[in-house]
Amino acid sequence: MLWRTNALRMFGAVVVGIGTAGWVRIRDMLTPHPGSPAEKLAVRGFISRRNLDNQQGVSQISVEEAVSRDDIHAAFICTENESHQDYVRTFLQAGKHVCVEYPMTMSYQAAVELWDLAQKKGLVLHEEHIELLTEDFKELKRAVQGKILQEGTLHFTGGALKAGFGFPAFSGIARLTWLVELFGKLSVSAATLEEEPAKGYSKLTAKLLTSDNRPLTWVEERQTGLPRAKNINFVFDSCTLSEIPAAPRGAVGLFMQDLIHFSAKLAGQVSPSQLQGEKERVLHCLELADKIQQLCQS
Ligand code: NAD
Repeated sequence: MLWRTNALRMFGAVVVGIGTAGWVRIRDMLTPHPGSPAEKLAVRGFISRRNLDNQQGVSQISVEEAVSRDDIHAAFICTENESHQDYVRTFLQAGKHVCVEYPMTMSYQAAVELWDLAQKKGLVLHEEHIELLTEDFKELKRAVQGKILQEGTLHFTGGALKAGFGFPAFSGIARLTWLVELFGKLSVSAATLEEEPAKGYSKLTAKLLTSDNRPLTWVEERQTGLPRAKNINFVFDSCTLSEIPAAPRGAVGLFMQDLIHFSAKLAGQVSPSQLQGEKERVLHCLELADKIQQLCQS
Protein backbone atom coordinates (compact mmCIF):
# COMPACT_ATOMS: atom_id res chain seq x y z
CA MET A 1 0.00 0.00 0.00
CA LEU A 2 2.78 2.39 1.00
CA TRP A 3 4.53 1.46 -2.25
CA ARG A 4 1.49 2.50 -4.27
CA THR A 5 1.18 5.80 -2.42
CA ASN A 6 4.87 6.54 -2.96
CA ALA A 7 4.60 5.75 -6.67
CA LEU A 8 2.14 8.63 -7.09
CA ARG A 9 3.64 11.32 -4.87
CA MET A 10 6.19 14.03 -5.71
CA PHE A 11 9.52 14.21 -3.88
CA GLY A 12 11.08 17.63 -3.31
CA ALA A 13 14.89 17.63 -3.35
CA VAL A 14 17.87 19.77 -2.47
CA VAL A 15 21.31 19.55 -4.09
CA VAL A 16 24.34 20.05 -1.84
CA GLY A 17 27.54 21.19 -3.59
CA ILE A 18 27.53 22.92 -6.96
CA GLY A 19 30.50 21.36 -8.73
CA THR A 20 30.30 19.25 -11.87
CA ALA A 21 28.08 16.57 -10.31
CA GLY A 22 25.78 18.99 -8.44
CA TRP A 23 25.20 21.05 -11.59
CA VAL A 24 24.23 17.90 -13.53
CA ARG A 25 21.88 16.79 -10.74
CA ILE A 26 19.96 20.09 -10.99
CA ARG A 27 19.86 19.88 -14.80
CA ASP A 28 18.59 16.30 -14.73
CA MET A 29 15.83 17.06 -12.22
CA LEU A 30 14.72 20.03 -14.32
CA THR A 31 14.56 17.87 -17.46
CA PRO A 32 13.87 14.30 -16.29
CA HIS A 33 13.75 11.38 -18.67
CA PRO A 34 10.15 11.32 -20.01
CA GLY A 35 7.96 8.64 -18.50
CA SER A 36 10.56 7.69 -15.87
CA PRO A 37 10.13 7.82 -12.07
CA ALA A 38 12.62 10.73 -12.12
CA GLU A 39 9.64 12.89 -13.14
CA LYS A 40 8.47 12.55 -9.53
CA LEU A 41 11.49 14.52 -8.28
CA ALA A 42 11.33 18.32 -8.07
CA VAL A 43 14.43 20.34 -7.20
CA ARG A 44 13.51 22.96 -4.56
CA GLY A 45 16.90 24.52 -3.87
CA PHE A 46 20.65 24.07 -3.60
CA ILE A 47 23.17 24.45 -0.80
CA SER A 48 26.68 25.81 -1.28
CA ARG A 49 29.47 27.15 0.91
CA ARG A 50 29.77 29.97 -1.60
CA ASN A 51 27.12 32.67 -2.01
CA LEU A 52 25.86 31.96 -5.49
CA ASP A 53 23.21 33.44 -7.77
CA ASN A 54 20.36 31.22 -8.89
CA GLN A 55 21.67 28.12 -10.68
CA GLN A 56 19.58 27.09 -13.69
CA GLY A 57 16.71 29.05 -12.12
CA VAL A 58 17.05 27.28 -8.74
CA SER A 59 17.78 29.34 -5.63
CA GLN A 60 20.28 28.86 -2.83
CA ILE A 61 18.97 27.87 0.60
CA SER A 62 20.67 27.10 3.92
CA VAL A 63 21.14 23.63 5.43
CA GLU A 64 18.84 24.71 8.30
CA GLU A 65 16.08 25.61 5.87
CA ALA A 66 16.50 22.39 3.86
CA VAL A 67 16.29 20.09 6.88
CA SER A 68 13.22 21.85 8.29
CA ARG A 69 11.13 22.22 5.12
CA ASP A 70 8.25 19.77 4.74
CA ASP A 71 8.35 19.99 0.95
CA ILE A 72 11.97 18.73 0.83
CA HIS A 73 12.09 14.95 1.11
CA ALA A 74 15.49 14.10 -0.35
CA ALA A 75 19.05 15.43 -0.55
CA PHE A 76 21.73 14.90 -3.21
CA ILE A 77 25.21 15.10 -1.67
CA CYS A 78 27.60 16.25 -4.40
CA THR A 79 30.42 17.84 -2.40
CA GLU A 80 34.00 16.58 -2.28
CA ASN A 81 34.33 13.11 -0.76
CA GLU A 82 35.56 14.04 2.71
CA SER A 83 32.39 15.94 3.60
CA HIS A 84 29.90 13.33 2.34
CA GLN A 85 29.38 11.47 5.59
CA ASP A 86 28.53 14.52 7.71
CA TYR A 87 25.98 15.77 5.17
CA VAL A 88 24.47 12.28 4.81
CA ARG A 89 24.07 12.02 8.60
CA THR A 90 22.53 15.52 8.86
CA PHE A 91 19.88 14.77 6.24
CA LEU A 92 19.08 11.25 7.47
CA GLN A 93 18.70 12.56 11.01
CA ALA A 94 16.26 15.14 9.65
CA GLY A 95 14.19 12.35 8.05
CA LYS A 96 15.27 13.01 4.42
CA HIS A 97 16.16 10.35 1.85
CA VAL A 98 19.74 10.64 0.57
CA CYS A 99 21.49 10.10 -2.75
CA VAL A 100 25.24 10.49 -2.23
CA GLU A 101 27.88 10.55 -4.95
CA TYR A 102 30.48 7.85 -4.44
CA PRO A 103 32.20 7.20 -2.09
CA MET A 104 29.57 7.49 0.63
CA THR A 105 32.10 7.77 3.46
CA MET A 106 35.81 7.74 4.22
CA SER A 107 35.54 4.64 6.44
CA TYR A 108 33.66 1.36 6.55
CA GLN A 109 32.44 1.95 10.11
CA ALA A 110 30.88 5.31 9.21
CA ALA A 111 28.99 3.68 6.33
CA VAL A 112 27.65 0.91 8.59
CA GLU A 113 26.40 3.55 11.04
CA LEU A 114 24.74 5.61 8.30
CA TRP A 115 23.04 2.56 6.87
CA ASP A 116 21.74 1.61 10.33
CA LEU A 117 20.41 5.14 10.74
CA ALA A 118 18.65 5.03 7.35
CA GLN A 119 17.10 1.67 8.20
CA LYS A 120 15.94 2.86 11.63
CA LYS A 121 14.29 5.89 10.03
CA GLY A 122 12.83 3.98 7.07
CA LEU A 123 14.73 6.13 4.55
CA VAL A 124 16.37 5.41 1.21
CA LEU A 125 20.17 5.71 1.29
CA HIS A 126 21.60 5.43 -2.21
CA GLU A 127 25.23 5.62 -3.34
CA GLU A 128 25.61 6.74 -6.95
CA HIS A 129 27.77 4.43 -9.10
CA ILE A 130 27.70 5.79 -12.63
CA GLU A 131 30.80 3.79 -13.61
CA LEU A 132 28.71 0.62 -13.35
CA LEU A 133 26.24 2.10 -15.82
CA THR A 134 28.62 2.76 -18.72
CA GLU A 135 28.14 0.71 -21.88
CA ASP A 136 31.86 -0.20 -21.76
CA PHE A 137 31.42 -1.75 -18.34
CA LYS A 138 28.26 -3.61 -19.37
CA GLU A 139 30.18 -5.07 -22.37
CA LEU A 140 33.10 -6.01 -20.17
CA LYS A 141 30.78 -7.74 -17.72
CA ARG A 142 29.25 -9.74 -20.57
CA ALA A 143 32.75 -10.65 -21.83
CA VAL A 144 33.87 -11.86 -18.38
CA GLN A 145 30.70 -13.80 -17.58
CA GLY A 146 31.15 -17.58 -17.41
CA LYS A 147 34.97 -17.43 -17.72
CA ILE A 148 37.29 -18.78 -15.04
CA LEU A 149 39.84 -16.21 -13.87
CA GLN A 150 43.47 -17.19 -13.35
CA GLU A 151 44.81 -13.73 -12.55
CA GLY A 152 44.17 -10.13 -13.46
CA THR A 153 45.14 -6.47 -13.30
CA LEU A 154 43.16 -3.25 -13.45
CA HIS A 155 45.41 -0.20 -13.82
CA PHE A 156 43.76 3.21 -13.63
CA THR A 157 45.56 6.44 -14.50
CA GLY A 158 44.27 9.97 -14.08
CA GLY A 159 45.14 13.55 -13.17
CA ALA A 160 46.18 14.62 -9.66
CA LEU A 161 43.40 14.45 -7.07
CA LYS A 162 41.85 17.67 -5.85
CA ALA A 163 41.90 18.48 -2.13
CA GLY A 164 39.18 16.84 -0.09
CA PHE A 165 38.82 13.73 -2.24
CA GLY A 166 40.49 11.47 0.33
CA PHE A 167 42.71 8.39 0.37
CA PRO A 168 43.05 6.78 -3.11
CA ALA A 169 41.33 3.52 -2.09
CA PHE A 170 38.22 5.64 -1.38
CA SER A 171 38.48 8.18 -4.20
CA GLY A 172 39.05 5.20 -6.53
CA ILE A 173 36.15 3.17 -5.15
CA ALA A 174 34.62 3.01 -8.64
CA ARG A 175 37.50 0.81 -9.87
CA LEU A 176 37.33 -1.41 -6.79
CA THR A 177 33.59 -1.72 -7.38
CA TRP A 178 34.25 -2.83 -10.97
CA LEU A 179 36.46 -5.67 -9.69
CA VAL A 180 33.86 -6.75 -7.11
CA GLU A 181 31.05 -6.65 -9.70
CA LEU A 182 33.14 -8.69 -12.14
CA PHE A 183 34.72 -11.25 -9.81
CA GLY A 184 32.62 -11.34 -6.62
CA LYS A 185 33.73 -10.81 -3.04
CA LEU A 186 37.44 -10.09 -2.61
CA SER A 187 39.98 -9.96 0.17
CA VAL A 188 43.11 -7.81 0.45
CA SER A 189 46.50 -9.49 0.79
CA ALA A 190 48.85 -6.47 0.51
CA ALA A 191 48.81 -2.78 -0.36
CA THR A 192 51.36 0.00 -0.84
CA LEU A 193 51.20 3.71 -1.61
CA GLU A 194 53.99 5.67 -3.33
CA GLU A 195 53.66 9.44 -3.18
CA GLU A 196 55.56 12.42 -4.55
CA PRO A 197 53.41 15.37 -3.48
CA ALA A 198 55.58 17.94 -5.29
CA LYS A 199 54.68 16.30 -8.61
CA GLY A 200 51.07 15.63 -7.61
CA TYR A 201 52.03 11.95 -8.01
CA SER A 202 50.52 8.98 -6.19
CA LYS A 203 50.40 5.27 -6.95
CA LEU A 204 48.32 2.85 -4.96
CA THR A 205 48.94 -0.85 -5.57
CA ALA A 206 46.55 -3.29 -3.91
CA LYS A 207 46.90 -7.06 -4.09
CA LEU A 208 43.51 -8.73 -3.90
CA LEU A 209 42.29 -12.32 -3.89
CA THR A 210 39.03 -13.72 -5.22
CA SER A 211 37.10 -16.27 -3.14
CA ASP A 212 38.90 -18.95 -5.26
CA ASN A 213 42.25 -17.43 -4.24
CA ARG A 214 42.94 -16.02 -7.70
CA PRO A 215 45.17 -12.92 -7.55
CA LEU A 216 43.98 -9.53 -8.78
CA THR A 217 46.12 -6.39 -8.78
CA TRP A 218 44.49 -2.96 -8.62
CA VAL A 219 46.67 0.05 -9.44
CA GLU A 220 45.39 3.60 -8.99
CA GLU A 221 48.01 5.98 -10.42
CA ARG A 222 47.59 9.74 -10.54
CA GLN A 223 49.76 12.62 -11.65
CA THR A 224 49.12 16.12 -12.89
CA GLY A 225 48.40 15.84 -16.61
CA LEU A 226 48.20 12.02 -16.70
CA PRO A 227 45.42 11.02 -19.12
CA ARG A 228 42.38 9.31 -17.65
CA ALA A 229 42.46 5.64 -18.70
CA LYS A 230 41.71 2.14 -17.48
CA ASN A 231 43.94 -0.71 -18.64
CA ILE A 232 43.02 -4.29 -17.97
CA ASN A 233 44.71 -7.64 -18.29
CA PHE A 234 42.45 -10.48 -17.22
CA VAL A 235 43.83 -13.98 -17.79
CA PHE A 236 41.17 -16.69 -17.94
CA ASP A 237 41.66 -20.41 -18.43
CA SER A 238 40.28 -20.03 -21.98
CA CYS A 239 41.60 -16.62 -23.15
CA THR A 240 43.05 -13.26 -22.09
CA LEU A 241 41.16 -9.97 -22.11
CA SER A 242 43.59 -7.08 -22.47
CA GLU A 243 41.22 -4.36 -23.64
CA ILE A 244 37.92 -3.04 -22.41
CA PRO A 245 35.48 -3.74 -25.22
CA ALA A 246 34.44 -0.46 -26.87
CA ALA A 247 30.71 0.18 -26.91
CA PRO A 248 28.66 3.11 -28.23
CA ARG A 249 27.24 5.48 -25.64
CA GLY A 250 23.79 4.65 -24.32
CA ALA A 251 20.78 6.83 -25.17
CA VAL A 252 20.26 7.91 -21.55
CA GLY A 253 23.07 9.80 -19.77
CA LEU A 254 24.82 8.12 -16.83
CA PHE A 255 23.70 10.56 -14.12
CA MET A 256 20.15 10.38 -15.53
CA GLN A 257 20.23 6.58 -15.30
CA ASP A 258 21.31 6.91 -11.69
CA LEU A 259 18.56 9.48 -11.01
CA ILE A 260 15.97 7.10 -12.44
CA HIS A 261 17.28 4.33 -10.19
CA PHE A 262 17.21 6.53 -7.07
CA SER A 263 13.71 7.79 -7.82
CA ALA A 264 12.54 4.20 -8.44
CA LYS A 265 13.81 3.42 -4.92
CA LEU A 266 11.85 6.38 -3.54
CA ALA A 267 8.72 5.14 -5.33
CA GLY A 268 9.16 1.66 -3.82
CA GLN A 269 9.77 0.11 -7.23
CA VAL A 270 13.07 -1.62 -6.38
CA SER A 271 12.85 -5.06 -4.78
CA PRO A 272 14.12 -5.60 -1.24
CA SER A 273 16.59 -8.21 -2.50
CA GLN A 274 18.11 -5.74 -4.99
CA LEU A 275 18.33 -3.07 -2.26
CA GLN A 276 20.05 -5.56 0.04
CA GLY A 277 22.45 -6.65 -2.72
CA GLU A 278 23.48 -3.04 -3.41
CA LYS A 279 23.97 -2.31 0.28
CA GLU A 280 26.16 -5.40 0.69
CA ARG A 281 28.24 -4.45 -2.36
CA VAL A 282 28.74 -0.85 -1.18
CA LEU A 283 29.72 -1.95 2.34
CA HIS A 284 32.02 -4.70 1.04
CA CYS A 285 33.87 -2.22 -1.22
CA LEU A 286 34.24 0.31 1.60
CA GLU A 287 35.52 -2.43 3.90
CA LEU A 288 38.15 -3.36 1.29
CA ALA A 289 39.10 0.32 0.90
CA ASP A 290 39.48 0.60 4.67
CA LYS A 291 41.72 -2.46 4.79
CA ILE A 292 43.85 -1.15 1.89
CA GLN A 293 44.30 2.18 3.69
CA GLN A 294 45.31 0.41 6.92
CA LEU A 295 47.89 -1.73 5.09
CA CYS A 296 49.36 1.31 3.32
CA GLN A 297 49.64 3.22 6.58
CA SER A 298 50.98 0.38 8.77
P1 NAD B 1 33.89 19.36 -8.17
O1 NAD B 1 35.31 19.61 -7.82
O2 NAD B 1 33.35 19.91 -9.45
O3 NAD B 1 33.00 19.89 -6.97
C1 NAD B 1 33.29 19.41 -5.67
C2 NAD B 1 32.86 20.41 -4.61
O4 NAD B 1 33.59 21.59 -4.76
C3 NAD B 1 31.39 20.81 -4.69
O5 NAD B 1 30.89 20.82 -3.37
C4 NAD B 1 31.41 22.21 -5.23
O6 NAD B 1 30.34 22.96 -4.69
C5 NAD B 1 32.70 22.70 -4.70
N1 NAD B 1 33.25 23.75 -5.52
C6 NAD B 1 33.40 23.74 -6.86
N2 NAD B 1 33.96 24.89 -7.25
C7 NAD B 1 34.16 25.62 -6.11
C8 NAD B 1 34.71 26.89 -5.85
N3 NAD B 1 35.14 27.68 -6.84
N4 NAD B 1 34.75 27.32 -4.57
C9 NAD B 1 34.30 26.54 -3.55
N5 NAD B 1 33.77 25.33 -3.75
C10 NAD B 1 33.71 24.89 -5.01
O7 NAD B 1 33.69 17.77 -8.07
P2 NAD B 1 32.59 16.85 -8.76
O8 NAD B 1 33.15 16.24 -9.97
O9 NAD B 1 31.29 17.55 -8.85
O10 NAD B 1 32.49 15.69 -7.67
C11 NAD B 1 31.61 15.76 -6.57
C12 NAD B 1 31.31 14.38 -6.08
O11 NAD B 1 30.72 13.63 -7.14
C13 NAD B 1 32.55 13.60 -5.65
O12 NAD B 1 32.21 12.82 -4.53
C14 NAD B 1 32.83 12.69 -6.82
O13 NAD B 1 33.46 11.49 -6.40
C15 NAD B 1 31.42 12.42 -7.30
N6 NAD B 1 31.36 12.00 -8.70
C16 NAD B 1 31.63 12.90 -9.70
C17 NAD B 1 31.55 12.48 -11.02
C18 NAD B 1 31.80 13.41 -12.17
O14 NAD B 1 31.68 12.94 -13.33
N7 NAD B 1 32.10 14.68 -11.94
C19 NAD B 1 31.24 11.15 -11.31
C20 NAD B 1 30.96 10.29 -10.28
C21 NAD B 1 31.04 10.73 -8.97
